[in-house]
Amino acid sequence: MRGIPNSAPGPWHIIMHCEVIALQEKLKLLIQLQDCDNRITDTRRKRDDCPLRIAKLEKELEAFQATVQEDQERLEALKKERREVERDIDDAETKKRKSQAKLSSVSSNKEYRAALKEIDELDRTRILLEDKALELMEQIETLEEKLKASKKELEGLKEKIAKDKKAIEEEMKTLEQKLTSLAQERDQLCRQIEPPLLSRYDLLRERKGGLAISPVTSGVCQTCHMGIPPQKFNELIRGEELMSCPNCQRIIYWGDNKELKEPAGSSE
Ligand SMILES: [Zn+2]
Repeated sequence: MRGIPNSAPGPWHIIMHCEVIALQEKLKLLIQLQDCDNRITDTRRKRDDCPLRIAKLEKELEAFQATVQEDQERLEALKKERREVERDIDDAETKKRKSQAKLSSVSSNKEYRAALKEIDELDRTRILLEDKALELMEQIETLEEKLKASKKELEGLKEKIAKDKKAIEEEMKTLEQKLTSLAQERDQLCRQIEPPLLSRYDLLRERKGGLAISPVTSGVCQTCHMGIPPQKFNELIRGEELMSCPNCQRIIYWGDNKELKEPAGSSE
C-alpha cells in the first residue's frame, strides 16, 4: 500500500494503485527479460569465440611445424652440398695421382714444370675444398642439434594444444547447454508479457544495440546519458504509465524504485 497519496483512498486512488502495481509487474518482467537477453548475448559471444580460439591454436602449431620443416630441408641441402664437396675432393685426388704419374714419363723440362704446376694447383684446390667440407660439417652438427631440440619442443606443443583444444571444446559444450537453459528462461518470461509489449521490446532491442529498457536516475537516462524533462521524470517516479526516453526511445523506469529491484539469484 505504499506509494499512494495520503488522502482518503477513494475509488480513483484504488484504480490508480492497481495500475501502478500492474505497470510495476510489467516493468519487472521486462527488466528480467533484458537481463536474460544480456546473458544470452554474452554467452553467445563466448561460444562463438571458441572456434576462433581453436583456430588460433592450430595456426600456432602449424607455424612451429613450418619452421621445423624449413630447418629439416636446410639440413638436407647442407648434407647434399657436403657430399658434392667430398666428391670434388676425391676428383682432385684422382687428378693429382694422374699428374704425379705423368711426372715420371715427361720428356722435357717444360712438361715437367707444367705437371708440377698442375699438382700444386690441385693441392690448393683440395685444401679449399677440405676447409669447405669442415665448415659444412660444423653447420650440419649445429643444425642437427637445433632440430633435435625443436622436434622435442614440437611434441610438447602438440600435446599442450591438443589438451587446450579439448578444454575449449568442453567449454563450448557447457556454453551450449547454458544457452539452451537461457532460451527456456526467456520463453517463460515472454509467456508472461503481453504480445504488443513484447513486440515493442524486441523491436527496440533489435534497433537499439541490444538494450530495450533503461533505468533513469536523478533525471538522467542511464543508457543514452541524456537528461529527461523534470515533469517527465516526476511522471516516471509516479509510475502510472509506461514511458520512453525522449532521446533514445528506450522503455524507461525509475532506477531508484526498490520495488523493481531484481529478484535475487540470477547469475552473472
Ligand atoms: Zn535514453
